[in-house]
Amino acid sequence: MPALAEAPPAAALAAATAVPADAARARPDAVPENAPEHCPGIDAPTAGTSSACQGCANQSICATTPKGPDPDLPRIQARMQGVRNKILVMSGKGGVGKSTFTTMLGRACAGQAKQTAIMDLDICGPSIPLILGLSSHSVHASASGWQPAFVSEHLCAMSIGFLLPSTSSAVIWRGPKKNALIKQFLLDVDWTGGLADDFPAEGSNASAPNLDYMLIDTPPGTSDEHLSIVSLLAPTGLSGAILLTTPQEVSLQDVRKEISFCRKVNLPILGVVENMAGFVCPSCHGNSDVFYPSTGGAKALCEELDLKFLGSVPLDPRIGKCCDLGEDFVYEHPESPAAQAYVDIIRKVQEMCP
Ligand code: SF4
Repeated sequence: MPALAEAPPAAALAAATAVPADAARARPDAVPENAPEHCPGIDAPTAGTSSACQGCANQSICATTPKGPDPDLPRIQARMQGVRNKILVMSGKGGVGKSTFTTMLGRACAGQAKQTAIMDLDICGPSIPLILGLSSHSVHASASGWQPAFVSEHLCAMSIGFLLPSTSSAVIWRGPKKNALIKQFLLDVDWTGGLADDFPAEGSNASAPNLDYMLIDTPPGTSDEHLSIVSLLAPTGLSGAILLTTPQEVSLQDVRKEISFCRKVNLPILGVVENMAGFVCPSCHGNSDVFYPSTGGAKALCEELDLKFLGSVPLDPRIGKCCDLGEDFVYEHPESPAAQAYVDIIRKVQEMCP
């Protein structure tokens, strides 16, 4: 985005969040949950004006939102054709280790010389910069676009955290602003930072991917960010989603909603990871269930819903410490049961997404 070339972060953020007239459209679940029975769908030409819309709480929004396919989709498709695997990391609840898992997967892929990018879509609570040790990084813009922050030669990340004036700054945005930023992440970030040939020019037939993995860390739940990224990336081919949960029923209930969302929007589920499954004492190596799997945990859920169970990762206090320090837990403590569990899960993911 050339106009941002000399822009300071605050100006870049303002530009990123300018809401275009066509923002927030082309969502995959075209019928909101609060819509009346005969809702024509929010993308329908008659949305907001049909007889079924009379009295609907969404009428004014639907009547004024532009209809039809998002005009940015072809550009996004062209930009993303250089990405081999696009993987969403999702969870029903917050605090189950989603960002931690995303960074472990990213570091592992990059460690095998796979060009890997992490896109942090947790707009209201970005934690990728801290976990990757990039808290002090800010976004630089050049003629080729926004430069992501590089952890190593093969691993980079982009997060709204790089655009905020401080780590305590709150982001209080509605859907259209989030949608606009997500589009900018897809369209304006120079994801390879010039290390590899950049994305193929629009309309080119280049077949070699320039990014092996794009890992997308999403906020908990199923909200605007999920709808936007799925609707924008689905035409480019999404590899699928990895769902994270903890063993107790309160978390499993929420992951069921996530599964329902994925099935509703035709997003393949690569598998389920059970995090915080027991605590292995670093001293005596004794194991105890901190989050008791009263209904059988994630494995039983996967058997019930015919999903792939990727594995269980035990709690280890050193994981949190490594995240706070921006260190690679698997590299620092390869002998730990948690690190070995992560390695096994990551191997399964890579087998599905080579
Ligand atoms: S206004 Fe009409 S199109 Fe929009 S959600 Fe309501 S019923 Fe559906």
